[in-house]
Amino acid sequence: MSRVYNFSAGPAAIPDPVLGRIKDDIPDWNGTGMSVMEASHRSKAFVAVAEKAEQDLRQLLLIPGEYSVLFPQGGATMQFSMVPLNISAEGDTVDFVQTGSWSKKAIAEARRYCAVNVVADSADQNFTYVPDQDSWLHSEDAAYLHYCANETIAGVEFPFVPESGETPLVCDMSSTMLSRPVDVCRFGVIYAGAQKNIGPAGIAVVIVRKDLIGNAREMTPALLDYATYDAAGSMSNTPPCFAWYVASLVFEYLLAEGGLEVIGKRNQQKAGKLYAAIDASDFYSNRVRVDYRSWMNVPFVLADASLDPTFLSQAEEEGLVNLKGHRSVGGMRASIYNAMPEAGIDALIAFMQEFERTHG
Ligand SMILES: *Cc1c(COP(=O)(O)O)cnc(C)c1O
Repeated sequence: MSRVYNFSAGPAAIPDPVLGRIKDDIPDWNGTGMSVMEASHRSKAFVAVAEKAEQDLRQLLLIPGEYSVLFPQGGATMQFSMVPLNISAEGDTVDFVQTGSWSKKAIAEARRYCAVNVVADSADQNFTYVPDQDSWLHSEDAAYLHYCANETIAGVEFPFVPESGETPLVCDMSSTMLSRPVDVCRFGVIYAGAQKNIGPAGIAVVIVRKDLIGNAREMTPALLDYATYDAAGSMSNTPPCFAWYVASLVFEYLLAEGGLEVIGKRNQQKAGKLYAAIDASDFYSNRVRVDYRSWMNVPFVLADASLDPTFLSQAEEEGLVNLKGHRSVGGMRASIYNAMPEAGIDALIAFMQEFERTHG
């Protein structure tokens, strides 16, 4: 088997030990004589997986008892609708920080249900920073304050958790959840699609404070109501069993690696190395202001963009794949989630230096 270093932003790489375990499990999972894909979600064996996934996630993120953990389908995008339907009422105003493509999409969806007040917007500098919280214009009584912890496309990350007082803080953590410890108590709702740092596409993780459950608007479809998931252990209908099972293996793997303190240090080290290599060269550059650079998604451009296709094809020949930047920003983007080993960063840096030597 020849594995590449996969720098995809999502669906993204899954840790090798997890893939190995899936392979072993496929024909005869847990002594059932079948694969997990063929098992009933009501079976004892699967219910045990679901329970363990929640327990392990609680342990990883130190999730307090007053929070529920839900595993809905629909990705992070479905949360763009579920959040306003569940924690705002008709006529409410909600506050949003606009720092890039994903927060823009969340805002557009929330506008279908609420008045949206954009408290701060970094479009003035092409979404390359996060405005200081001192400058935010909060509304009088917003139903919640929403932000995107890491803008996956532009590689812009919040280096702080906003202060929201009594207002529930809602965070799209799709591309940072599990990349380091986080203080869950600061939040009303945290959500993430799985396919960046958690597992395969098809499932999302929602951590929601229990007092925010049970207040959905009357017209809310049952499958968009947090209470439906909370009451049924996220199994009111058939859940994405395979994705849930893989997520549970990823949680187990992260615990075995030493938990999120260890993982966070590794990620910081990996990102630091790559940014240092970019900054040390005039051939490559990253446009994001240093304080807001993402640990997870590292976009960079070549001084001569006409070399982009050559860079990408030669990288691919070296087994460094999916480095093309998002179509909206161009250039390159190296997504370096938990499953990217430091050896992958070293290989990328070595390739970049050699490419600069031969084309610079
Ligand atoms: C990928 C991503 C999304 C969209 O996720 P889906 O699971 O495809 O709906 C939303 N927000 C952020 C920050 C993302 O990285």
